[in-house]
Amino acid sequence: MTGREGEALTKVLGARSAGPLAKLGLVTVGDLLRHYPRRYGDPGTLTDMDRLALGEHVTVMARVARATVRTMRSRAGAMLSAVVTDGRHELALTFFAKRAGALRPHEDKLRPGRVGLFTGVVSEYRGTRQLTHPDYVLVGVDADDAEEAMFEASRPIPIYPASSSVPSWRIQRAVRTVLDPLTEADVEDPVPDEVRARHGLPSRLDALRAIHHPVDQASWQRARHRFRFEEAFVLQAALAQRRAHAAEQEATARPSRGPGEPSLLADFDAALPFTLTDGQRAVGEDLAHELAQARPMQRLLQGEVGSGKTVVALRAMLQVVDAGGQAALLAPTEVLAAQHARTLRALLGSLAEGGLLGGAAHGTRVALLTGSLGAAARKEALLQAASGEAGIVVGTHALLGDQVQFADLGLVVVDEQHRFGVEQRDALRAKGRVAPHVLVMTATPIPRTVAMTVFGDLETSSLTQVPAGRAGITSHVVPAGNPRWMERTWSRVREEVDKGHRAYVVCPRIHPDEDLPAGGGAAAKDFDDVPDLLELMDGDGAADERPALRAVLEVADMLRETPALDGLDVGVLHGQMAPADKESAMARFAAGELQVLVSTTVIEVGVDVPEATVMVVFDADRFGLSQLHQLRGRVGRGSAPGLCLLVSTAQPGTPAATRVEALAETTDGFRLATLDLELRSEGDVLGAAQSGRSSSLRLLRVVQDADLIADARREATAVVDADLELGEHPELRAAIAAQLDDEQEEFLERA
Ligand code: ADP
Ligand code: MG
Repeated sequence: MTGREGEALTKVLGARSAGPLAKLGLVTVGDLLRHYPRRYGDPGTLTDMDRLALGEHVTVMARVARATVRTMRSRAGAMLSAVVTDGRHELALTFFAKRAGALRPHEDKLRPGRVGLFTGVVSEYRGTRQLTHPDYVLVGVDADDAEEAMFEASRPIPIYPASSSVPSWRIQRAVRTVLDPLTEADVEDPVPDEVRARHGLPSRLDALRAIHHPVDQASWQRARHRFRFEEAFVLQAALAQRRAHAAEQEATARPSRGPGEPSLLADFDAALPFTLTDGQRAVGEDLAHELAQARPMQRLLQGEVGSGKTVVALRAMLQVVDAGGQAALLAPTEVLAAQHARTLRALLGSLAEGGLLGGAAHGTRVALLTGSLGAAARKEALLQAASGEAGIVVGTHALLGDQVQFADLGLVVVDEQHRFGVEQRDALRAKGRVAPHVLVMTATPIPRTVAMTVFGDLETSSLTQVPAGRAGITSHVVPAGNPRWMERTWSRVREEVDKGHRAYVVCPRIHPDEDLPAGGGAAAKDFDDVPDLLELMDGDGAADERPALRAVLEVADMLRETPALDGLDVGVLHGQMAPADKESAMARFAAGELQVLVSTTVIEVGVDVPEATVMVVFDADRFGLSQLHQLRGRVGRGSAPGLCLLVSTAQPGTPAATRVEALAETTDGFRLATLDLELRSEGDVLGAAQSGRSSSLRLLRVVQDADLIADARREATAVVDADLELGEHPELRAAIAAQLDDEQEEFLERA
């Protein structure tokens, strides 16, 4: 290793300068060089000194009249005051530092008589115009002549992510101190030369210079493009390595039973109350084949809401159990985990009573393991998992815990985990003695590029059909302010209930008097009710000018007093309830004892009550489109048509109103996901797609940079295919290792 990016800033800059930077997490030269400017200030044109407007960003050409350093009495520290003049007007320059010594470089340069360009924001102190910590270029010092000084001063001014204790200008100075003496040999480039040449990218050192000290806009743009490519390339190389390593890993082959042999899967298929769709059958065959290999399956199953992914997963799990292994099913919420356990037990009937009197001889058990299980129940579930008595273990991410042991874990199914990153999947893969097969399922159509980044280590299958005989969903926007519409809403709910159906009412908050959105509190477990609120992104008026968000408890009380719903039983469900209460609310709703369930977004994913036909969503304009689509997927799952009423406070013509209207118009999940992305920033996309944004992605934009990501993926895969351990590419190997360290750190911090 020849690069200098690993060197400590304390060594290069000295402890005093390095200290504040460490507070921003910048410890090594590489950290500082990767701390890219957030944006660039316009250097502005030369300003006449008699026209200096307060608050304006100006550049003036002037001569130094005098400069003095003094220590301040009022507060600790030293100050350098200089005065520059154009011959007629004067302008003060002020620099502060903790100690007089730190001002010496300025003092040395700002000698009386010297001419230079000074750039900064005009302020006023005791009636005098001044620039605080101006940037400047002195003729004969920083530049040979006035023309060159003008050129220096015309460069875009980098503006860094900073803090009050470490202002941008200080970062800029530190970067220049570190960057200026570097040569090509000091900088390691993870992107191989051929790849760089093919894509016309500047060298890493050139790009560092251009991004931190650009000549013009085009130069920082080119540099930024290069670093985006680099990020994508390193990420894709890491993913390619993961794929390749996983393919080399051994897994236990779990072939399906032959005809005539006792088989849970065959019994299950025979008892299934419906026929599988063509898609379910085709994907099922792929999975059956892959499970029979001695290499771990790594598959992502995308399927529209209601396309029947659970059955597909269950059939794969049964094949593994038939072959003597165990399967784990991981759900994002306790509600969904509990429902899955209930569904599996119901679907399996006596097949899920293995070892019990009356259970099938080749039957198995379904254990439920969630974070807030009572001690005794938890012990029992742990025991069943460890002994192998439970062929199927269902749980939340508590299943990732170290205490959870399996006798012979053969398959891990991760359901609805768009918030489940690469690291968590790695943790799971590490659970078995040999690598388990992995199936990840999601109903959110994942844009190609997110699939390539967040799920880039997986192969993809899709379920595009929903089972025949579904009557579909109709959606309408209901203006919240219109009492007649609201009345009509509740009478529609009543009509549905009178037909024997049930209704969901969804609100973004739990308590009316808590300011937190649901899930913001300490009680937010397992992502239970995390509404995907968009108020900061809409740009259609300050959030606090809008009516307060509706809350579950308040709305439930209101509905109990609503004449149209007289005599109905209204229940509530939210993440702050005890697990047993949650489960009982879901069970009573499923059984029809409660006809109306007021809940948070805890029911967003996977909840399956076929009798539910109507859903009212309060503050629909404040949710993300994909989330609304998921929510809406809870109704119209049986043979009766579904109705979704989107109560909105959005003013007509605003982006929020547009979003809700789009949802009312289409049920195509893919179109909605694309639209959603267009309305959001990339940080949110990754944030939603992954639990925590990878710290290695600084500049890459997952949505806009689709082509670049595809290019980087192709190049990175080729490099890794030719040289799996990257023996020929030590720089790339180091970059991947650094990225893994970052991710590991984040993962540990979150855990
Ligand atoms: P999702 O893909 O959204 O997870 P589920 O697996 O929850 O969907 O399935 C939705 C509903 O459709 C469930 O009630 C399930 O039993 C039912 N279902 C699944 N496959 C079929 C099929 N082939 N025919 C009819 N109903 C089906
Ligand atoms: Mg599901």
